[in-house]
Amino acid sequence: MEELAVLTDFFCVAGSQGGAAPAPVPAPAAKAANAPTAKNGKAPPAKAAKAPAAKAPAAKAPAAKAPAPAAFDAAGLPATERVYLTYEGNFQLSCAATVLACRAAPGAGGAPAVDLVFDVSVFHPQGGGQPSDVGVVRSAANGCEAAVERVSFDFATGVVVHRAAVDVADAFAVGDAVELAVDAAAREAFSRCHTAGHMVDSAMVRAGYALPPTKGYHFLDAPYVEYKGDVPAAERDALVSRLKAEFAGLVDEDIATTIEMMEKARAEARLNKVQQNFDFSVFKDPTVRVVGVAGFQCPCGGTHVKSTGSLRDYTVVGIKVKKGVVRIKYDRANK
Ligand SMILES: [Zn+2]
Repeated sequence: MEELAVLTDFFCVAGSQGGAAPAPVPAPAAKAANAPTAKNGKAPPAKAAKAPAAKAPAAKAPAAKAPAPAAFDAAGLPATERVYLTYEGNFQLSCAATVLACRAAPGAGGAPAVDLVFDVSVFHPQGGGQPSDVGVVRSAANGCEAAVERVSFDFATGVVVHRAAVDVADAFAVGDAVELAVDAAAREAFSRCHTAGHMVDSAMVRAGYALPPTKGYHFLDAPYVEYKGDVPAAERDALVSRLKAEFAGLVDEDIATTIEMMEKARAEARLNKVQQNFDFSVFKDPTVRVVGVAGFQCPCGGTHVKSTGSLRDYTVVGIKVKKGVVRIKYDRANK
């Protein structure tokens, strides 16, 4: 897949391009830097903010509801260890972490919130065509719990920023030990949708259309993948039928997903063996995360399910061709 689709995926992996400019406001170093809230000044009661699962229905794209976090001044912070990048980590939904930065931020609907940075995170930030994870962060220090509404990635620094709803000003402070937990249902839905998008890539190759992928939109509302090239009008209906059949065949084959970090030159040699579908010049890091779905490998920073066999409810649903861009729409058949 290339340019954009993979590009966005690239960005997740490379972590070195396209980041928003840092905000002028320095990251606060301690709880005192949290903005006042209605309960400002009171000792943080050991109470929960909200149940994240209820706020994050798997059937919708919850990330789209929360405002995008403002650029976070991550300068000086170490790159966040992103657990989901490894194969094992792709399926790990919780971890212990330490708060490295905490700053007041606007939450959904104007509710109080904080932007949190940790040393390590299981949360997948929005990017690569995949929505942000949602979930919960719990303080081991005071028992406070907050819903993580949206997670973003700062490409310039490699820092993952978590926006969490809070109802006490000092629920979290730098140095606090916390537990992070991703909403399992939402993650599963996003992983399934993203993996199905990669299956379309494989189906396209099997159907004889090995076009360079340029963009992937793996949100649950109306997912699609795009390729550079053309499909003559007379071939389009037949191609959709062929892709439906190839997709079903890939499900039947129950092909295992692979995730591996690969030295850049090796990855390029392997992925561009047949044709130059991937532009590796966008990668700045020496290693590239290569994901294999349905026997088709590409650079990708997203999360995935273990094999194609669990995606029987997905299929290809349409095609649109315009100005050298072929968009293949895919979705759950009985949404
Ligand atoms: Zn991907």
